[in-house]
Amino acid sequence: MEDALKLEYEAKNGWSLLDEDARKELTAFCEGYKKFLDDAKTEIEATNVLTAAAKAAGYADIDDVIASGGKIVPGMKLYAVNRGKSCAFIAVGKDDPTLGMKMIGAHIDCPRLDLKPRPLYEDSGFVLAKTHYYGGIKKYQWVAMPLALHGVVFSDMGRKKLFVTLGEDENDPVLYITDLLPHLAGGQMGKPASQAISAEQLNVVMGSVNAYKPPETDKPADAEDESDEKAEEPKNDSLKTLILKLINEKYGLKEEDFFRAEFEIVPAMKAKDVGLDRGLVGGYGQDDRVCSYTAFRALFDLDEVPEKTVLVYLSDKEEIGSMGNTGARSCWLENLILELVHLYDPSYGMLELRRAMRNTKFLSADVTAAFDPTYADVSDKLNVAFAGGGIAFEKYTGSGGKFGSSDASAQLVTYIVDCLDQAGVPWQLTEMGKVDVGGGGTIAQFMADLGMDVIDCGVPVLSMHSPYELTSKADVYWTYKAYMAFIRA
Ligand code: MN
Ligand code: MN
Repeated sequence: MEDALKLEYEAKNGWSLLDEDARKELTAFCEGYKKFLDDAKTEIEATNVLTAAAKAAGYADIDDVIASGGKIVPGMKLYAVNRGKSCAFIAVGKDDPTLGMKMIGAHIDCPRLDLKPRPLYEDSGFVLAKTHYYGGIKKYQWVAMPLALHGVVFSDMGRKKLFVTLGEDENDPVLYITDLLPHLAGGQMGKPASQAISAEQLNVVMGSVNAYKPPETDKPADAEDESDEKAEEPKNDSLKTLILKLINEKYGLKEEDFFRAEFEIVPAMKAKDVGLDRGLVGGYGQDDRVCSYTAFRALFDLDEVPEKTVLVYLSDKEEIGSMGNTGARSCWLENLILELVHLYDPSYGMLELRRAMRNTKFLSADVTAAFDPTYADVSDKLNVAFAGGGIAFEKYTGSGGKFGSSDASAQLVTYIVDCLDQAGVPWQLTEMGKVDVGGGGTIAQFMADLGMDVIDCGVPVLSMHSPYELTSKADVYWTYKAYMAFIRA
């Protein structure tokens, strides 16, 4: 019997499309993904982990190819690193690059707390470290939980670098930010959530074993003369000195070295399966390491020479506006594409670069908000992304009347979704939240500025920007498959 013509759209279910083999592949893929989340909690670590994997698989450093006066030919695989914080991976295709390339761009920086340049101080039996938050966080979420320190310290005019990690090894101590007990939190609890914990209260406990002597006085310390008493306290053999000694023993650092460092405070928790049926991944920094990992793997697992040159770009600084020379607004990517067209044909220059970019299709791979039944009122149910519904496309982002958005053409949408339909990959076309409730931006607009055809797409996330975000394994898997289908189409 012939099927009746189906007129109505029916949302897809990413789980029901999986046969037994695909479920096994999904489980294995997500094990690798969770390991990546644990191994790469910062943009520097993500760059290190992925370039190491690429090098081991025979990818060549583009700087070496340039230095040796080499050429690129179809089938070559390359990587490029921008100041240790942003990177790109390339599979050279059969076509002339001026006919266009296929690019996927995600970001590897995540919301976190950075240590201030001069963070350490001692107060009342504790050594604490001042922080400056990075990206859009709800500050009250970052207290009373195990935290780890990840960072890099330079010496010798910047020629030597030392990577520091504390709080991730099973035997490491963790760091911690305190919160007020409910019994005494009357004042705090009356404030709006945005003010319940202030930025200057995000002080990290670094140590407490003492050496500390209470001030010698009979009368109880009173708030007004507290500062005077502190000034009289002897500074030698302070708890802070003891903590600095421990830091020096472990890492060889002095207090001044904090000026030469970038230290990031991140949740010390490992990524885990969530739910009795293990359908979700819980973990820190899935925005946007989920799209970074799926895009990288789509390129990495490509076992044929693609028609078009494929480039996976992993940017830094997205969470603070893509500024800076490692952010997507910098000319680093543009310069890299110029190098590529020139390596393809030494007679190629700026005009060919412009042609290459004009003909390029770019997936701006970033997460979006998944529908959360507990907070249903912020979403339009017809247009929201559902966890488990497959990769979510957003024709536009922005806020307040599409302001600040790169609105992809319906022609580009059609190209992409036809390509996924042919590959049997479920997708959903969505918006983030109800109109005028909020909004957000991605790197899409900066790629559009370069003249590329660009659309946002990625994995729907619950509890986005929290210390422990949630994704559906089905979406992680299908996003990987979607990027693969895009590369191969
Ligand atoms: Mn993001
Ligand atoms: Mn984000």
